[in-house]
Amino acid sequence: MSPAVRSLLVKTLGRELGLSRVGIAPAAPLPGATYYKSWLRRGYHAGMGYLARNVERRAAPASLLEGARSIICAALSYQSSSANRPHAETAPQAGPATGRVARYAHGRDYHLVLRERLETLVERLRQRLAEPFEARLFVDTGPLLERELAAAAGLGWIAKNTMLLSRELGSYTVLGEVLTTLELAHDAPETDHCGSCTRCLDACPTGAFPAPYQMDASRCISYLTIEHRGPVDPGLRKGLGGWVFGCDICQEVCPWNREAPPATEPGFAPKPGLAAPSLGEWIGLQEEAYRLLTRGTAVRRAKRGMLRRNAALAAGNTGDRSSIPALKLAAQDADPMIAEAAMWALRKLEEP
Ligand code: SF4
Ligand code: SF4
Repeated sequence: MSPAVRSLLVKTLGRELGLSRVGIAPAAPLPGATYYKSWLRRGYHAGMGYLARNVERRAAPASLLEGARSIICAALSYQSSSANRPHAETAPQAGPATGRVARYAHGRDYHLVLRERLETLVERLRQRLAEPFEARLFVDTGPLLERELAAAAGLGWIAKNTMLLSRELGSYTVLGEVLTTLELAHDAPETDHCGSCTRCLDACPTGAFPAPYQMDASRCISYLTIEHRGPVDPGLRKGLGGWVFGCDICQEVCPWNREAPPATEPGFAPKPGLAAPSLGEWIGLQEEAYRLLTRGTAVRRAKRGMLRRNAALAAGNTGDRSSIPALKLAAQDADPMIAEAAMWALRKLEEP
């Protein structure tokens, strides 16, 4: 079977498995790695020290699998029908007592969903191809530059908001890769279609874009609510608004996301309590409730104390006076980070 026919087979199998798009990149050194290194040098990875490890391996994916020739890149959409509208129209409508969770985390953990699809893809490829081959799977789990690879595989371009953006799917997609020894026909990279637009850069409430195509994670709500384990810088707290896990603003305003079709993956259907979480409940979140709420979801990435801290700050930002009893209890918490966030929120709620 020729590399072109093999590639066609990979894409057909991907479609059958519900993957939104599949592209193929060569297992060659990545040109985007230069940008990644300069991003690290500027310290924009903030406290995510793991991103600064294995930099050379990230730049040369073939080092992760002996004899690797190709990388099958897959995108799976988690676009919801309401995501087609810009941020101004999708601001929280459910009342001041609810917070916001980034859309990718509303349903089942995408790591599990996408990994299952990719495992099945490899299994079916083995059944269909007579020749033996090696394959190694990644879903946000290994030292790979996923967005750069997806761009090299023609799945989209790395946009001014630093997300992978596709004309067909928008940017509400999760990415996974299969590094393989198979020789496959490669796809051409997509060109940049951001044009003169700056909507995402202008909309960021914490000023996390020092320039187009550059994101300073230390100012990004996604980093602050999910990765950052200490108190949030007081100067950034107001910008957090009602977000308690992640942030979608620079995607919500993107024109390419307006027309993108809704996701077909049933695993991404919202789990009760995650799409519009009660701030009062999250401020007082107990261990058992945390385990039940986050089981099998990407929200588990944030520790319970971080979610409580985030919910307290969101209550202060959204003027949620119904959370005052929960905040008063949290202000006595043994964890100084939670107690301080609750006291900050109470002071905000008392402001005239
Ligand atoms: S996710 Fe939110 S905080 Fe982060 S860069 Fe985008 S708009 Fe800014
Ligand atoms: S909002 Fe505009 S500049 Fe930002 S990613 Fe979308 S098209 Fe590009």
